[in-house]
Amino acid sequence: MSENQAQLIDRFGRKVTYVRMSITDRCDFRCVYCMDEEMTFLPREQVLTLEEVIFLMRAFCELGVEKVRITGGEPLVRRNVDWLMAEIGKLKHTTALKELTLTTNGSQLRKYATHLVEAGVDRINISLDSLKKDRFKALTRTGDLDTVLDGIDAAKQAGFKRIKLNAVIMKGRNEDEVIDLALFAIKNNLDISYIEEMPLGHVTHQREESFCSSDEVLETLQTAFQLHQSTSKTGGPSRYYQLADSESKIGFISPHSHNFCESCNRVRVTTEGRLLLCLGQEDSVDLRGIIRRYPGDIERLKQAIIDSMDIKPEGHDFNISEQPIIFRHMSVTGG
Ligand code: SAM
Ligand code: SF4
Repeated sequence: MSENQAQLIDRFGRKVTYVRMSITDRCDFRCVYCMDEEMTFLPREQVLTLEEVIFLMRAFCELGVEKVRITGGEPLVRRNVDWLMAEIGKLKHTTALKELTLTTNGSQLRKYATHLVEAGVDRINISLDSLKKDRFKALTRTGDLDTVLDGIDAAKQAGFKRIKLNAVIMKGRNEDEVIDLALFAIKNNLDISYIEEMPLGHVTHQREESFCSSDEVLETLQTAFQLHQSTSKTGGPSRYYQLADSESKIGFISPHSHNFCESCNRVRVTTEGRLLLCLGQEDSVDLRGIIRRYPGDIERLKQAIIDSMDIKPEGHDFNISEQPIIFRHMSVTGG
């Protein structure tokens, strides 16, 4: 088979065309649903170097991967991230890669937004869970709302093809801001996705008490807006609705209430170079081991990735009342 053709097909006939790569487990925020107040981060030697990340992304994109999302932790706190993005961006000329995207908390966007567009980043997702300064601080523990809003402005000016906000909605925390967050997105011509909280890693609150389903969020939105189900797809797990009289799309990421496994087209690579075949299961392959044992041997790496398709599970099985079922934090896995 020639290079760049789709070669990643699992036992259930699903084609893998999307990779999410976590480039750091570190972050300048400590969001309550994502991290503990005190976190121990990985020692440097366990983290893939930027060169290793590029090598890995090249292997995936030569195997037919069309979309790469760089995430973390907070990807923009990693040194030389702009160089990394430009190197991955170049793969669009030589491999199947069509779209390069990034997920960020927005705190560093004033510094990086223009560089990211120049590097070939097409779209970005920015997390925003509250428009109230005190609450934003409480949810992120260390974040500053004004800095993030300024980052969103910088991103708008920089000229990404599309910007999407991500909001994790939690009962008793921010479920009363569902409509205000949508209005903010509409006013700024952004899309927005509402995310159900997932039981990844240990956190200090009881997740079943804060859990807010996408159906509840949708009901709230329908009191204020006319929403039409959209067929729009971005290659990710969101289900989309279109607003009447606005370009903004409203999405829902609902791992509990609307399982999206049957159409899953993605895999994740952790900060340590572990290939995770499913967000909610532990099946994985140690790609860092292969890269470090056989430096420069891209064919061997590609074969390991092809072989991994045999262990991609059929689906995940989250249960919010059992906490935590997966001991990895989202920051290690990459959201
Ligand atoms: N730091 C960046 C950010 O916050 O956007 C990128 C990494 S973060 C892990 C990616 C996404 O995962 C964010 O939108 C965040 O809100 C979401 N997230 C983190 N922990 C989560 C959890 N337990 N359940 C659902 N979403 C979560
Ligand atoms: Fe950091 Fe993103 Fe996790 Fe918040 S959700 S702690 S910003 S990695």
